[in-house]
Amino acid sequence: ATPTALLVGTGRGAQLGILIKGPEVLESTRSIDTVVLDKTGTVTTGVMTLSAVHAAEGEDEKEALRLAGALEHASEHPVARAVARAAEEQVGELPASTEFAAHAGLGVTGVVDGRTVLVGREALLRDHGPAVFPAALADAKAQAEAEGHTAVVVAWDGRARAVLAVGDAVKPTSAEAVMALRSLGLTPVLLTGDNAIAAKAVAAEVGIDEGDVIAEVLPQDKVAVIKRLQAEGRSVAMVGDGVNDAAALARAELGLAMGTGTDAAIEAGDLTLVRGDLRVAADAIRLARSTLGTIR
Ligand code: ADP
Ligand code: MG
Repeated sequence: ATPTALLVGTGRGAQLGILIKGPEVLESTRSIDTVVLDKTGTVTTGVMTLSAVHAAEGEDEKEALRLAGALEHASEHPVARAVARAAEEQVGELPASTEFAAHAGLGVTGVVDGRTVLVGREALLRDHGPAVFPAALADAKAQAEAEGHTAVVVAWDGRARAVLAVGDAVKPTSAEAVMALRSLGLTPVLLTGDNAIAAKAVAAEVGIDEGDVIAEVLPQDKVAVIKRLQAEGRSVAMVGDGVNDAAALARAELGLAMGTGTDAAIEAGDLTLVRGDLRVAADAIRLARSTLGTIR
């Protein structure tokens, strides 16, 4: 490879909105056969909103939202922002929380108004001792997930009290991007910490096969998924935006970070897609391959 031809490639990249760490990273695009896409913030907008509150019998929806919002106020997670924002709009000023703890990929816990409150996935409740989960709430959770939403459980004092349906939209360009990646001979895989049903709904919307959805992966386990694919003999590009994607971006043969994402992802990636447009991931791989083609 002549350095000059590679640098011409990187200059064209800048015009397309691709920042390349160094020309040597392009070399890996020759072998890549799989592209792993993070869901939230990469395939979807990552801007979440609260769409419904389902309270268990005898519980008050507003009270559940008030306590959940008070806790989520302290979290930076997109789900937390949606809950806190909706709570402020619908309830007004929120009480303070103490003993706040964030549990990566699961949710948050703390004390509000003297109650021990848990907000997050059902697995978070299981991790914190026995909790009653009323059947009507299980139905509400299943319904929210079938609609492609993230079901957020609100529990306090050993009992699930409400389910909040939170969701974001698929980016308008994602389906086209998946098609473009396929046309480069790559198999798209969707990787997320979110629930499997919501993840499959998003996959169907953008044209990823149901069998290529890897869901409910804890943040620290995303890198293990990349290693597993590599152990199967696959050569992997990873596209992500979150702190929880950083290790996977670094481990993949080619890491592509969304420019709209976190600093941790951008630092870990080989390339940055400046505008956060997934279609540019395909442009980047096509450009790299054609650049290498001219200097082979
Ligand atoms: P992703 O891989 O989609 O970016 P994360 O690994 O950050 O997702 O989180 C996985 C799941 O954990 C979320 O879909 C949500 O159900 C739950 N979760 C994480 N943080 C919170 C929080 N602060 N409040 C409520 N739920 C949360
Ligand atoms: Mg993300």
